[in-house]
Amino acid sequence: MQFYVNGYFPGDPRDHNTETTKEKPGNSLPTEVDVLIVGCGPAGLLLAAQLSAFSDITSCIVDQKSGPLAVGQADGISGRSLEIFQALGFSDRVLREAYFLKAISFWRSASQHPKGIVSAEKKSDGRSAFSEFPHVVLNQARVHDFLLDVMHQGPAQLTPHYGRRMTALSHSPDLESPYPVTAHFENDDSVLETVTARFVVGCDGARSAVRAAIQVPLHGDFANKAWGVLDLLLITDFPDIRIKTIVQSTEGNVLIIPREGGHLVRFYVELDQLKTDERVNALDVSADDLIAVIKRIMQPYAITVKEIVWWSVYEIGQRLCDVFDNRMHSTANVLPRILIAGDACHTHSPKAGQGMNVSMHDSFNLGWKLAAVLRGQSAHQLLLTYSDERRAIAQELIDFDKELATIFSRPPEQTDSSQSTLQQYLVKADGYVSGTQVRYPPSMIVGNAGRQNLAEGYPVGVRFASADVIRLVDARPVQLGHVLEADGRWRIIAFAGSQPVINAESALHKLAHFLSDSAASPIRRCTPIGADWDSVIETLCVLQVDYRALNVTDLPDSLWPAKGRYGLRDYEKIFCVDPDQDSIYVRRGISKTQGALLIVRPDQHVAEVLALDDTAGLITFFDAVLLDAH
Ligand code: FAD
Repeated sequence: MQFYVNGYFPGDPRDHNTETTKEKPGNSLPTEVDVLIVGCGPAGLLLAAQLSAFSDITSCIVDQKSGPLAVGQADGISGRSLEIFQALGFSDRVLREAYFLKAISFWRSASQHPKGIVSAEKKSDGRSAFSEFPHVVLNQARVHDFLLDVMHQGPAQLTPHYGRRMTALSHSPDLESPYPVTAHFENDDSVLETVTARFVVGCDGARSAVRAAIQVPLHGDFANKAWGVLDLLLITDFPDIRIKTIVQSTEGNVLIIPREGGHLVRFYVELDQLKTDERVNALDVSADDLIAVIKRIMQPYAITVKEIVWWSVYEIGQRLCDVFDNRMHSTANVLPRILIAGDACHTHSPKAGQGMNVSMHDSFNLGWKLAAVLRGQSAHQLLLTYSDERRAIAQELIDFDKELATIFSRPPEQTDSSQSTLQQYLVKADGYVSGTQVRYPPSMIVGNAGRQNLAEGYPVGVRFASADVIRLVDARPVQLGHVLEADGRWRIIAFAGSQPVINAESALHKLAHFLSDSAASPIRRCTPIGADWDSVIETLCVLQVDYRALNVTDLPDSLWPAKGRYGLRDYEKIFCVDPDQDSIYVRRGISKTQGALLIVRPDQHVAEVLALDDTAGLITFFDAVLLDAH
């Protein structure tokens, strides 16, 4: 993280409340905003956190609840979500509190042990292979707290407006209207308020009023499943109580998720299939009923509950919308103005632990696109890619969830030694549930990967996988992926080939001069006059040299550009391989002789791999994505 480029200010450098005297939002809703977000769940809060990075965008986030979530709901946080939290600046806070999911244990009934469950297998959790971050478990409410802090401290200083229910939403067909979407709210005292917006994003959960307003139906499995879920403080002699455990017994199945703090434990109990249109409250299940089921399943081990911290019966069907925006009933040339994210457009069981994760990933895909369109950097058409990209991912998740649910609900196999089908399936699924394998197909923002051979470990469409490098200027070991903050910037990452990097005729020097001097340079074309050189597209480079063998001044100026009101140099864009371990070239399959040029999207997905000297490829790619700034 960089700060003080425009002058020193005291206090927490992340907190823009100390830097400015911007007026705090009053209690009433604003009448006009760029982006109105309905719903303060993980999808809405992450979107607001991302938009808070842009002081030139006005946003407003509203929820019908009277205040922030205090406890309960989802708790699994994938490696990919932590990468996103890192880009937003708070992964360390999550890691400080969370339970680290490092192993998984399987227990089941066995024919020679009629009195109860026995251990089948304990294995390390395979998800850590897919990200520099582990898979962790933390109360959704704490994730909300961290996102609220990011929103509040960001340059746009956002604070939710609670206690307002959105009751109606309309979209003006007038294409000239600056604020074409109108939302009506009612507060707890029946006071009515109206907000007009350029864009509305419905992050209002499974019963989304925004989705209903744009008449986008959910399709899928209407035979809802109900899950009992309890967060408990308890005493037990069950030895794996601090390991994620799946118990498949003749008495039923439970999933045990140890939680943050060393004592809290979550139990999921699968309840009987609901009838069509039956709602969970009609089931009349109590926490004591659920605990009785757990005690039966866990025999011969004893469970003594000391405190029920939170419990719920959570009803869910596997459903998905055809489109995640307002184009469903519109003519072909209508562009998105109202969009939906998270549970508002897809629902699935909690078994894969994806509810909070995938909802936040929707918003992370959308936030930078909204910002780019609102700031005039990209055409409105960019927003079409949101539904196209995220719907395909939601479909994959639902297919995965259905398969997992079927295997999970099967009666336990009486195979005493070999792995059950469930065990085998979960091992295969590690990469998927880590959230790092998402791959977006070719589009206006994903290239066709013609030079994938130059960087095989960076598949085009997949998020940029971090690796260790050494920062040239101060020898600090850094994760390259952590340099890619959620600030709306595109990145060009140049991996130098085998030519000496001080050679003025090398491909790296030529690239740097093209970017800084050529009239065709996408950076020159897309950066507004007076804005920092790297404010739209940032160039980073990685060199195959020891940091001791080179000075930053040996490289072209544009690789360490002057910025801000004082013209201070940004020395933190050049990285060297780490001599003490496998270099990033080896780990990510980058050609050591030719090098490679990566274009990386603001949401960290690799958009294209090019040859280092392919300036024509750079021009073509950015022509399709970014508008002229002048
Ligand atoms: P939500 O978190 O549902 O947030 C939607 C927000 O919109 C809410 O704050 C709501 O108050 C607000 N809202 C809705 N309508 C309006 C309106 N008209 N006007 C203003 N505000 C509105 N997942 C798991 O993995 N494990 C679990 O155990 C689990 N338990 C859950 C228990 C419950 C009771 C619920 C509701 C969900 C649970 N989930 C669980 C699902 C998980 O929490 C969701 O997948 C995740 O929160 C989705 O995030 P979201 O932001 O899309 O929607």
